[in-house]
Amino acid sequence: MPDPSHATGFTLNTLDRKSAQREDPAFIAALLAAPSSRSLVLSADIPALKRAGDIHDAIFTLDEARAFGDPAETVFLGCHGERALFATRIEGAAHEAAPERDDLAFVDLRTIAAQGLVDPEMIGALSQAKSLLHWHQHNRFCANCAKPSKAAAGGSRRECEHCGRHHFPRVEPVAIMLVTDGEHCLLGRQAGFPPGMYSCLAGFAEVGETLEDTVRREIMEEAGVKIGHVDYFASQPWPFPASLMIGCTARALSSEITIDTREIEDARWFSREETRLMLAREHPAGLICPPKLAIANLLISAWATEKG
Ligand SMILES: [Zn+2]
Repeated sequence: MPDPSHATGFTLNTLDRKSAQREDPAFIAALLAAPSSRSLVLSADIPALKRAGDIHDAIFTLDEARAFGDPAETVFLGCHGERALFATRIEGAAHEAAPERDDLAFVDLRTIAAQGLVDPEMIGALSQAKSLLHWHQHNRFCANCAKPSKAAAGGSRRECEHCGRHHFPRVEPVAIMLVTDGEHCLLGRQAGFPPGMYSCLAGFAEVGETLEDTVRREIMEEAGVKIGHVDYFASQPWPFPASLMIGCTARALSSEITIDTREIEDARWFSREETRLMLAREHPAGLICPPKLAIANLLISAWATEKG
């Protein structure tokens, strides 16, 4: 049985991260020398793709990756069977790199995922690469002593040679929740959403909170609705830059909405029938839900198609 999470974007990733073996520098060095090893290539956080007609491929040989110039960082993502997959970040103007290659395109990951330009499993690997390389780029100095740190264990952490402190990549937990009263669900919209789009409310977990408390606090802050029981439903890595969207369902104990206009511009209760029309993009007022790429779509779809 696939996890419900796998129905949404950025979630398929079957790389074996070799957590024990990657501690051994000789293991990583051998993979870096192996002809079968491959690498993803990102310029800042924009993946490079090879194009052959309508086919896009994110996987480069290590020689091809090196041809972009000295990498700013190379990290080990994991193995598919015997084949290792690395991710290489190249500096700055990658669009000008490898000028002899006219089969290259640099396409942001959101577009790659939305348009399904590469295999879904490779979108998961690109997501892992983007978040990890972004973390390395923005954590080059030890947070304890401020001396330069360096990548270790295949890039799964950074170490400070000066004070010995180890630093690990951050994942930022975000609660995203479908609130229902049984017959209606609560959806809101931010000012920056596309016209007519309503989605689940969401917010970052704060220090010292349970996930349930995050859900209750965010809904009270943004919409003034009191929440009772909270259930986990599914999750989604969201590589912008490194969140984990934790999808929940939550039961409303009150119905009056008081909007915090600093966070959202509207929030309303929608019937199942309305959400079905919004998902199908057939709502008479032109209202829509987020696309399948987003976990909000999964949360709303699961509820909309329940018998109610
Ligand atoms: Zn240090």
